[in-house]
Amino acid sequence: MNHETSRDLYDRALDVLVGGVNSSVRAAPQPYPTFVRKGDGGHVVDADGNRYVDWVMGLGPLLLGHDLPEPVQAAIQRRTSEGPMYGMPTELEVEHAEFVARHVPSVEMLRFVNSGTEATTSAVRLARGYTGRDKIVVMQSGYHGAQESTLVEGDREERGPSSAGIPAEFAEHTIPVPFNDEDAVTEVFEEHGDDIACVLVEPLLANKGIVEPVDGYHETLRDLTDDAGALLIWDEVITGFRVGGLGCAQSKYGVTPDLTTFGKIIGGGFPVGAIGGRTDIMEAFTPVGDVFQAGTFSGHPVTMAAGLETLQYAAENDVYEHVNGLGRKLREGLSEIVADQAPEYTVVGTDSLFKVLFTRRGDAQSGACADGCEQDPDCDRFDACPKNGADVARGAVERWNRVFRPQMLDDGILLSQNQFESQFVAYGHTEEDVERTLEAYRNAL
Ligand code: PMP
Repeated sequence: MNHETSRDLYDRALDVLVGGVNSSVRAAPQPYPTFVRKGDGGHVVDADGNRYVDWVMGLGPLLLGHDLPEPVQAAIQRRTSEGPMYGMPTELEVEHAEFVARHVPSVEMLRFVNSGTEATTSAVRLARGYTGRDKIVVMQSGYHGAQESTLVEGDREERGPSSAGIPAEFAEHTIPVPFNDEDAVTEVFEEHGDDIACVLVEPLLANKGIVEPVDGYHETLRDLTDDAGALLIWDEVITGFRVGGLGCAQSKYGVTPDLTTFGKIIGGGFPVGAIGGRTDIMEAFTPVGDVFQAGTFSGHPVTMAAGLETLQYAAENDVYEHVNGLGRKLREGLSEIVADQAPEYTVVGTDSLFKVLFTRRGDAQSGACADGCEQDPDCDRFDACPKNGADVARGAVERWNRVFRPQMLDDGILLSQNQFESQFVAYGHTEEDVERTLEAYRNAL
């Protein structure tokens, strides 16, 4: 496969864009990333004209794939032709908020913003303002965007910022605990309960995994936050309107958070984020309350139109059936391949998320589960399934960039840009895409 144009574009980019990219993970595939010319259904075509089955799918926003259905396209074009934005309210924001509030059990009110990062930043500020407390609890290997309060590494004993440029004091207020470890988080609440404003947690680890919650973990977080007068915030930036369909992951797992952060799918492919939750908490935001929140582009009409039409299309068509069905086929097919060819690896995912983890735990029981790793305690491989980010990171991570991903790319299959991020099925993907992908995994593994 010829990649000369991507290589040349990367050379040019390195002169004018830091690291050649505008978001760090995009530079992970070396010696140069694939530059995209256009999307087409479940595929992308790169700058050299090579076509790939695309499982990156914009890193999650493109539930419908690259070809937006006619009503979505028409709504976007109508909005752009009437002036892209106004800095004043529109009916679209109201309609979009009504849709989300109608479908997501815990959400009564919303505030739209422009990215997942902005959503989690505002949600943490809201929790601190509402409770009058400073400390927050997050999961090790959880990801909540490029924000000061959650870029923390270490553990509850010893921790610091995970990026230069963040004062050490921020990390003092942010306590990381291992995902799925009820004892660790219970101890943190015993020690700091009165100072904790919120627990901020992804329903499943989607950026270091995929790792699903074990039975009872989210219920424990719900009980601990309730007892301590802290808020439970679910970061559904990835899972929102993907896992659990229109009710989101909170309806799938049956837990009601106080606040939810959204992003990705609710913008239909345009920049977006949102904070949603109970009225009494949400009204702590300005202009009703005193937790400041604002944004020139927030509730952008083009984004609102694209997002609302996407969600409505998903509500009225077989979108979730299709993406979850193909997701299941992928996980089942991969499980067979892995069991046969790489029994120490693990197939993970749920609904329209999938991934093969290069776990090497030296455990004869590790390997594939029947339908991905769904943390079923009755499964005979339960103990070997990754339970947290550290389990995932112990895998043969280096092999991903060095051998595995380039080899898949040569076979016309575009996988996520590093070993840790989810891969996404879209409505535009077909059975044939799944078959081609399984064949490529079979060759590469
Ligand atoms: N939260 C989660 C769970 C995410 O996966 C991400 C990004 N993938 C973010 C927050 C940040 O979103 P954004 O990149 O839109 O700022």
